[in-house]
Parts: sequence; structure tokens; C-alpha cells
Amino acid sequence: MNLILMGLPGAGKGTQAEKIVEKYQIPHISTGDMFRLAIKEGTELGQKAKSFMDEGSLVPDEVTIGIVEERLRKPDCEKGFLLDGFPRTIAQAEALDQLLSKMNKSIDYVLHVDVDKDELVERLTGRRICPACGATYHVQFNPPKQEGICDRDGEKLIQREDDQPGTVKNRLEVNIEQTQPMLDFYSDKGSLVTIDGSQQIDKVFHDIDEKLKNIS
Ligand SMILES: [Zn+2]
Repeated sequence: MNLILMGLPGAGKGTQAEKIVEKYQIPHISTGDMFRLAIKEGTELGQKAKSFMDEGSLVPDEVTIGIVEERLRKPDCEKGFLLDGFPRTIAQAEALDQLLSKMNKSIDYVLHVDVDKDELVERLTGRRICPACGATYHVQFNPPKQEGICDRDGEKLIQREDDQPGTVKNRLEVNIEQTQPMLDFYSDKGSLVTIDGSQQIDKVFHDIDEKLKNIS
């Protein structure tokens, strides 16, 4: 079961990843974790990646792909894997295809947890933080007992700069622009599965599960 998980910020990708991993016992491979592991293990590629990251520059694709290969060759990936946050570009997607065919593998499904932009804006701008104790709330999903006030210490809640509507919309638009070519790429290959992520968490997972049952 070789999967790629895609979805915009706020679409609930992380929650679904946890559920997939728990049920199907495949490793969840996020780009960040993969880099951290390679650096910790001190592999040649890990050291290369670290030197780029320390400079604050982007890790070049050939290094990233090498790290992906090291990770996918680990024994825990034999029964499958869930890639999250990779590939990010068409060039990386093509390189991944080549790598997998070299390993006699292929991607079964690209699961796209789809939520429309307006709903994402609503989800992402609803977060409120307590500046005193750091508690987080959501006006819709996890509201404090008294509007705008921290339950723990009575402090006035704030909205972080990152959660302001303008910032959120910009971030989403950049993300949409980056992901659309990938969605088209996997759609052309016939591996794209679009899941309605606006539903309840359990219903979203049910829909994913219905698809995955076909593989195992
Ligand atoms: Zn507080």
C-alpha cells in the first residue's frame, strides 16, 4: 500500500494520516521527519542536507530524492508507506516515479483531502491564543466558556498574525498554486482520489478506508 497524502493547511490531513497509519500499520513519512532522521543517522546525504539547511538555502532535489530513497528502502516500508509533504513539485514527482520503478514499486493512490478555500479560511482564522498561558481555542470547534476569555486564567485571548484572514488567504493561494500541477499530474496518471474533507472526521476516514480496502 504505497500512498501519497495531499491537502491544504487546515484540511485535516494530519488527523487522517494518524488514522491511516493506525489501521494499516504503514509508516507515516513526512519530509521533515525524513530529513531529521537522515541528519541524526549522519548519512552522507543527511550531512549534505544539513549543510544546505544551516546556510538557510533550499535542499536541492537530488539530495532530497536520495534521502527519500534511503527512507523507502528501510524494512518498515516493505508493506507500504504514506508520504506526506513530498513530492512538492512535478520534477520531484517524476523523480519519485523513477525511483519507485527502480524498486519495482508504484504509487497506488494519491489521496487528496479536499476542502474549499472559504471553509479553510474559516477554520484557519478561528484560532485564538491565550498570551499568558499559551492555551489555544477555536471560536467554532473549541470555544472558551466565555467568548474571548481564557478558561484557565481569565486572560483576554488574541488572534496571532499568522491567523489573520489576509495572511491565511495568501498562504492558501500560494499553496493552491503549488499543489494544482501535482493534482493534475496524478489525475492524468489515474491515481488521484479526491476525498471530501468538509465532512466529519470519521466520515472522511470512512471514505478513505473504502478506497484503501480495494488495495489490501
Ligand atoms: Zn490562559
